[in-house]
Amino acid sequence: MGSELATAIACTGVGEIHLSDPDNFSSDNLYRHTLGLRSVGMPKSVCVAHDLSLHYPWIVTQWDQETLQLKTDVEKLNQYDLIVVAIGTPTIERQFHDFVTTNDVKTPVLYTWLEGYGIGGHAVLDIPKSQGCLRCAYLDPDTCEQGLASNLNFLSPNQDITTTLAGCGHQFIPYSGISAKTTAAMAAEMAMGYLNGLNTKSSRVSWRGSEQAALDVGLSVSYRYHSFTQSLQVEPLKNRECDVCVG
Ligand SMILES: [Zn+2]
Repeated sequence: MGSELATAIACTGVGEIHLSDPDNFSSDNLYRHTLGLRSVGMPKSVCVAHDLSLHYPWIVTQWDQETLQLKTDVEKLNQYDLIVVAIGTPTIERQFHDFVTTNDVKTPVLYTWLEGYGIGGHAVLDIPKSQGCLRCAYLDPDTCEQGLASNLNFLSPNQDITTTLAGCGHQFIPYSGISAKTTAAMAAEMAMGYLNGLNTKSSRVSWRGSEQAALDVGLSVSYRYHSFTQSLQVEPLKNRECDVCVG
């Protein structure tokens, strides 16, 4: 989803974008990525930066192959207008959130992820000094304690949502390029809302798709899926029970 998001943000006319991704592009990525066959085997961040500068000649691009865990230079983090995290790994995202909070990083962070089977996608905008943080999105709705799965998710927690294809050794979460594009467009809209000064508070947004594909493979959906009626509407992130950012 990162390449779709970078492209969606670039086409709004931002002046400078710095892309980080440790991975090289592989043919497995083809149907869910902006890159094509000629980029196979090459660093994703280099190729996306190259494509963006060809398509939008006034944009300044930088790239590296660092993981999020290596982003510990506070002075550098503070130089960005906005940090966007689209890695789909909640544990590492929460570690990064704790790092930026502990080290008083001033730059807001937007975290975005999508769920499998086309059921939906989410984005959380965490603005320092504004009530509401990434941890608000991880409070278990039943126990009010920090959980491992986000309370925004539409698939119930503690299910194995990965699958494998015959002849293909590795496991993956099934989602289409359309889900990636939809989530990227939603997150880019939220990013631009912040950069343009329209969205000044920590907030969250989700889109909800059909549950059918998930039900067909025996998965269950969360209470939030059934009660959710606010697709694409930005809502306050603050959770009154969050002991990280409230009280
Ligand atoms: Zn919080």
